Amino acid sequence: MPSKRIQTDVLIVGASAAGLMCAIEAGKRGRKVIVLDHANKPGKKILMSGGGRCNFTNVDISDSNFISHNPHFCKSALSRYTQWDFIAMVNKYKIPYQERDHGQLFCENSAKDILDMLLAECQKANVDIRLNCQINEIKKTDAQLFDVSTSSGMFRAVSLVIASGGLSIPKMCASPFGYKIAEQFGHHIWPTTPGLVPFTLQPHDKTTLAELSGVSVDSIVSTERIEFRENILFTHRGLSGPAILQVSSYWQAGETITINLLPDLDVVDLLKTRQASQPNVKLKTVLSEVLPKRLLPVLLGKEPVDKTLQEISNARFSEIALLLHNWQIKPNGTEGYRTAEVTLGGVDCDELSSKTMESRKVSGLYFIGEVVDVTGWLGGYNFQWAWSSGWCAGQVA
Ligand SMILES: Cc1cc2nc3c(=O)[nH]c(=O)nc-3n(C[C@H](O)[C@H](O)[C@H](O)COP(=O)(O)OP(=O)(O)OC[C@H]3O[C@@H](n4cnc5c(N)ncnc54)[C@H](O)[C@@H]3O)c2cc1C
Repeated sequence: MPSKRIQTDVLIVGASAAGLMCAIEAGKRGRKVIVLDHANKPGKKILMSGGGRCNFTNVDISDSNFISHNPHFCKSALSRYTQWDFIAMVNKYKIPYQERDHGQLFCENSAKDILDMLLAECQKANVDIRLNCQINEIKKTDAQLFDVSTSSGMFRAVSLVIASGGLSIPKMCASPFGYKIAEQFGHHIWPTTPGLVPFTLQPHDKTTLAELSGVSVDSIVSTERIEFRENILFTHRGLSGPAILQVSSYWQAGETITINLLPDLDVVDLLKTRQASQPNVKLKTVLSEVLPKRLLPVLLGKEPVDKTLQEISNARFSEIALLLHNWQIKPNGTEGYRTAEVTLGGVDCDELSSKTMESRKVSGLYFIGEVVDVTGWLGGYNFQWAWSSGWCAGQVA
């Protein structure tokens, strides 16, 4: 019934990183803002992020840290609302944070500090957040307004912002909602795949490597397109750790990855030098100075690692070096959306304004955050994209 419709200027679907940032900005402009979410709490992914400490941004951000079919699209938003703008808000709230490797900024205490800050800003801007709300149908009226029917009633909005995220971690209320709405309004969606996700292994490798669960090694992991230097981690399910997660966003099914387990060392050189000075020392003794002991018999075989250096030929040294510098492994697949940190693909950037995130097809309709085909590397880039794109939409919606 028209009389029961709740009228608003801006209706945002998704009360998490991108949606809350947009709500704050639109609210500050005096717009009446309502945020709807089907979850029972706002910002669930913020709370679980960064191991509970939320890697909320990175000091070093450029478009090269993002994956998209349109690699230029993210530039405008990232330059209009930068990491320094977000850091300024974090400073204003006196949230303690620390810089870790690769410029990553994490909360010192808890990710809840970031969510509390966003909610406090929402409150100041009179943003109305409604949770446990199922969205049933969205229609655009002849008067160019959006009618949204939900389990919490009917809403009518001038601007509709979709900030419903991607498909990763369905348990955390992820849904394909945003993609469906985009399609309903005639948008093209780039196929979605899990990103920043551990690899599963072929049955043979899984059995062989199972006993290495918990072992972590500083490595360079590469595919044909890119390489990352960080830790890899053997798990009981396969391969994880930051270097693996980064590469997973570029990996294509069936592809072999290459792992250099000793990027700073020339293994042949090391073995020859030690052979000259200590011919009776065992291979495993020398290599366990530079690699976890458990790794050696699994990768090189039990018999060779027990040999003394004088028992091993130079040709064999080269083979060992090749294995350690150029270990090739073909993942079976990934752990999928169950554990992926992000979703690659999504709403085609070419059909959105890079300045405002507004649809080029439907005026008043906006897409922000992870639902858009912009995916960041591990390291705070995905949140920065959510803050930047949300801020941009919040200036005009
Ligand atoms: C385990 C984990 C750790 C992470 N850690 C980091 C990190 O430290 N740093 C970093 O930069 N990135 C991190 N990320 C990625 C980051 O969390 C996301 O990129 C970011 O949250 C995306 O923000 P968003 O607002 O677009 O979407 P989301 O945060 O996913 O929010 C979408 C919101 O929409 C709601 N929603 C979905 N469907 C519907 C529907 N049908 N109806 C109503 N509401 C709906 C959801 O309930 C949710 O509240 C992590 C992700 C995961 C899974």
